[in-house]
Amino acid sequence: MIVAKYSKTNIVGAGIAGMTAAINLSKFGKSVIIYEKNKSIGSSRDGDYEGIENWIFSENLTNSKTLCGIEFNGIPKYPIFEFFVHLNGVKPLKIKSLEPFFYLVKRGDDSDSFDSYLAEVCDSLNVKFLFNKTYDINTADINATGSNHAAAYIRGAQIFTDLPNQVHLLLGKEFAPMGYAYLIINDGLGTLATAFKKSNRTNDPLNPCIDYFKNLGFDFEIKEKFASRGSFNLPKIWGIKKPITIGEAGGYQDYLFGFGMRMAMYSGLYAAYKLSGKNYQANIINHELNVKRRISYINRLLFENLSNDKFKYWVNIFEKSNKPLNILRTAYDWNWKKIIKSIKLTNNYAIRFS
Ligand SMILES: Cc1cc2nc3c(=O)[nH]c(=O)nc-3n(C[C@H](O)[C@H](O)[C@H](O)COP(=O)(O)OP(=O)(O)OC[C@H]3O[C@@H](n4cnc5c(N)ncnc54)[C@H](O)[C@@H]3O)c2cc1C
Repeated sequence: MIVAKYSKTNIVGAGIAGMTAAINLSKFGKSVIIYEKNKSIGSSRDGDYEGIENWIFSENLTNSKTLCGIEFNGIPKYPIFEFFVHLNGVKPLKIKSLEPFFYLVKRGDDSDSFDSYLAEVCDSLNVKFLFNKTYDINTADINATGSNHAAAYIRGAQIFTDLPNQVHLLLGKEFAPMGYAYLIINDGLGTLATAFKKSNRTNDPLNPCIDYFKNLGFDFEIKEKFASRGSFNLPKIWGIKKPITIGEAGGYQDYLFGFGMRMAMYSGLYAAYKLSGKNYQANIINHELNVKRRISYINRLLFENLSNDKFKYWVNIFEKSNKPLNILRTAYDWNWKKIIKSIKLTNNYAIRFS
């Protein structure tokens, strides 16, 4: 079916959210222009490795053919089935899953990055990019300008190494106050980063992370350091005004661990549906996005209050489970009704927890 191109849609910001919106709008017959303040796609990013998670949304990516209207197989990515968790004073534990926990993608302007792939799809659909250009956000159709205020800070380093591919999660306030640090190695390149909440007493927590892995005997060279931040808002309960604000600019973010890419993509798809008059589909996506954002907020509050002993307890549960991904999925799939039902069940069966 040939769909007539009948109107022009202006998007500000050529990140994941903006390009996902553009791809879908274009498929729905709109003519799209993206205004990007930088000189090229991905140049606002640091070339780090990031993960497209497989647990927050109801759509399981394991057998997915598409993700938010984009061919999933085409995305340059690496499935991650296992990672190590490090807690100070405890032997690192390996967590394994039969389904990928997440898919590693490279961010930035390299030709094999996720950003470059999305740009290629945009090009194939005749989406027009205007670089080195800002646009009055108030008169745009979509604001996809990324992080605007800091809910969390990120300090990281790109590394070179001969070590084999592997992923590590490092917990503890000396490495990431109220957050977590991670080391990802893929094909000789890697990212070592810490995502944390700042306080008056916070020194740069990246250095203890570097020392920690070096002391364990990890041999790597630092190519470049970077600093960034992540934004998060709870969903607004009052009306949505023009422009539709998506991705991190709209606070679409996983507040627990900062897995914002899929949130950005779904919010881009939401905007495309909304601006194409497909309100039914738009409402379904928006509902799920808002539910997941709220859950991530509560999960975050719980996470921040975990003692070291409770961390150990949970890491052990993950290690022993043969389906650890399901634990994560359950953590993002609860509501008060389900909790009350499960309490009723435990009462019925007279199970008591000390
Ligand atoms: C270090 C780091 C690690 C992360 N790790 C993960 C991870 O492992 N998994 C995950 O899911 N998420 C991760 N995230 C979060 C994820 O990267 C973001 O949530 C996601 O990229 C947000 O997409 P976006 O399109 O909203 O913003 P961006 O991808 O940041 O794009 C915004 C674009 O808008 C442009 N722009 C800004 N202002 C203007 C303007 N006025 N005019 C024109 N253009 C403008 C910017 O240059 C940029 O190109 C990480 C974030 C960081 C910083």
